[in-house]
Amino acid sequence: MPACGTAAELIRAGRLVAFPTETVYGLGANALDPAAVARIFAAKGRPRTSPLIVHVDSIEMARTLASEWCAAAELLARRYWPGPLTLVVPKRPQVPDIVTAGLPTVGLRMPAHPLALGLIRAAGVPIAGPSANRFTELSPTAAAHIPESLADYTLDGGPARVGIESTVLSLVDTPTLLRPGVIPITELEALIGPIVQAAAPAEGAHAAPGMHARHYRPATPLYLGTVPRAGKGTVLRLGHEMPADPQAYAAALYEMLHRLDAQALDWIAIEPPPDTPEWAGILDRLRRAVV
Ligand code: AMP
Ligand code: MG
Repeated sequence: MPACGTAAELIRAGRLVAFPTETVYGLGANALDPAAVARIFAAKGRPRTSPLIVHVDSIEMARTLASEWCAAAELLARRYWPGPLTLVVPKRPQVPDIVTAGLPTVGLRMPAHPLALGLIRAAGVPIAGPSANRFTELSPTAAAHIPESLADYTLDGGPARVGIESTVLSLVDTPTLLRPGVIPITELEALIGPIVQAAAPAEGAHAAPGMHARHYRPATPLYLGTVPRAGKGTVLRLGHEMPADPQAYAAALYEMLHRLDAQALDWIAIEPPPDTPEWAGILDRLRRAVV
C-alpha cells in the first residue's frame, strides 16, 4: 500500500496526515510525539484543554497505552472494534499529557477503515486524531471537505460510511456516556450493564471537546424545528431531503451540510428526528450545530 507507506513516513517524521475512518476524516499525528501532537492543536485552532482520541490498530496496541484495561473494556473492544466506539480508560505515562489535555485518562479507538488501519500499522505508532476540520466547524466526511493546508498529506478513502463521530464511553469508575454516536446506548448496556449519561458542561467548558455546547457547526445558520421567514433558505425534512433511517441519516448529514454551505444560503432548517436511542447521536450533533 504505497500511499500508506508515504503517509506513515510523514507520521514518523512528526508531520500531520489527514486520514479516512468510517466515522469522519481524522487529522493524525504520532500520539507518542508531543511536538507532532502540538501541530494538530495549532492547525485546528483547537484549545489545548480538549483531549484527543488515540487511534490504534489492535486491542494489543490499546493495552500498551492503558494502565488499566478492565473486563468491560475487553468485552466492548471485542464486540465493537474495529468500529465507532471510543473507550476512555486510565492512561500509561508514555501517553503525552498534551494528548489527553492533562487528564490521567486516554480515549482509545480502533477505526474500521483499511487505510486508517494500514496507516497505523505502517507507522508502527498509535495516531492521535481529532476530526480534520478547524475547531467548532463541521467534520469532514470526504477528503474534499478538508480545509486546504490543514494537513501535510491527505489519504483519500472515499466517503465516510458512518458519517458522525464515534460514541465516547468512559470506563473510569461508573461507565459514563460522554458522547452518543450511532451505537444505541441500550445495546452497550445489554453488554456491560447500566451506563450513566454525562451531564452537559456549561458553554466554554473544555474538559471534553465533543461536549462543547457549540460544535459541529456549519457556516450557514442552522435551525432545528423552526423555519425562519426572512432570507433564502432550505428545509430538510425527515424521509424527504434526509433519509428516514438513522444510519442512512448519519451517513448523509455532514455531506448535505457541506453541500448547502457552498450555496451561500441565509439559513438551513432541519425537521427534528425522533428522540429515541437510535437517533441520540444525530440529535446531539444537531443540537450543538444550531445557532
Ligand atoms: P473529537 O476528536 O473532537 O471528535 O472529540 C474527541 C472526543 O473524545 C470528545 O468528545 C471527548 O469526550 C472524548 N475524549 C477524548 N479523550 C478523552 C479523555 N481522556 N477523557 C474524556 N473524554 C475524552
Ligand atoms: Mg471534531
